[in-house]
Amino acid sequence: MKGMITDIQRFSVHDGPGIRTTVFLKGCSNRCAWCHNPETFSLKPQLEFFPEHCIGCGRCFTVCPEGVHRMEHGVHVVKQELCIGCGRCADSCYSHALVITGRQVTVEDVLEQIRMDEPYYKRSGGGITLSGGEPVLQWEFAKELLKQCKEAGIHTALQTAGNYDFKYLKELLPYLDLVMYDIKAFSEDIYAKVIHGDRVRILANLKSLDGIGIPIIVRTPVIGSVNDSGQEIEDITAYLADLKNLVHYMLIPYHGLGKVKYDALGMEYQNSFYTPGEEQIQQLEKIAARQVQVYNIERGYING
Ligand code: SF4
Ligand code: SF4
Repeated sequence: MKGMITDIQRFSVHDGPGIRTTVFLKGCSNRCAWCHNPETFSLKPQLEFFPEHCIGCGRCFTVCPEGVHRMEHGVHVVKQELCIGCGRCADSCYSHALVITGRQVTVEDVLEQIRMDEPYYKRSGGGITLSGGEPVLQWEFAKELLKQCKEAGIHTALQTAGNYDFKYLKELLPYLDLVMYDIKAFSEDIYAKVIHGDRVRILANLKSLDGIGIPIIVRTPVIGSVNDSGQEIEDITAYLADLKNLVHYMLIPYHGLGKVKYDALGMEYQNSFYTPGEEQIQQLEKIAARQVQVYNIERGYING
């Protein structure tokens, strides 16, 4: 069983309880304009180009079978749309100006990494978290990985944005201890303009998940100029208020650190978002706390 991942991040403390190993799976069924992991949008390997590292040796021009690398007006131009992700140019670029993001791994490959961190999980109450992208898109790989973790007594968590047929998530649930479910907005307008996922399905899947009885943490990334109004947070939390298995709700302030990845992938980056200030986050948390239990990673549980 093989999966396509971008990274395995060890010693993560923001992806569930305790110290965790987070596996980032490729492929996503939303296209949030602010996403800081755009390299996970596609299920396929992708080429990243960092021109600041290029020494102009020209090797990539000779090895690429698709004519992706071109010299235009003395500038090295990368026609990403022609790239098939074969990796030849990245292998021959000694200055690491070219990198392939996305690699196929077996369940056993990932387990090998996870086993190294088992003592930390035991001491901290941590475990493994599947993230992305949308890990549920690679449900067969995810299921096998989670199953083997459970058999080894490792705590398992999933970060998901809910835009898929519920039957795929259902396949994973017997092997999950916690689901961290993103509700990025409530307004139809925001879904249509910047999330591009199926709003009705995302909201309905959360209720179906709640019906199963598994602990759920709901998170909202707070994106300045998109969903940072009191009304938006109030609408989201009103929808969450009758969930029976909600452990807590969290607001995660946006950061603009993904820009460098958009540039490297040749993707357009929308620059109109801002990071909400601490005071604004606290106000929104108070609004949310009127309807649900709110948790802040630094300040703990918030009173309404
Ligand atoms: S192989 Fe690397 S260093 Fe050489 S021209 Fe291509 S990108 Fe630049
Ligand atoms: S990954 Fe392959 S197809 Fe893409 S630019 Fe490099 S050599 Fe060309």
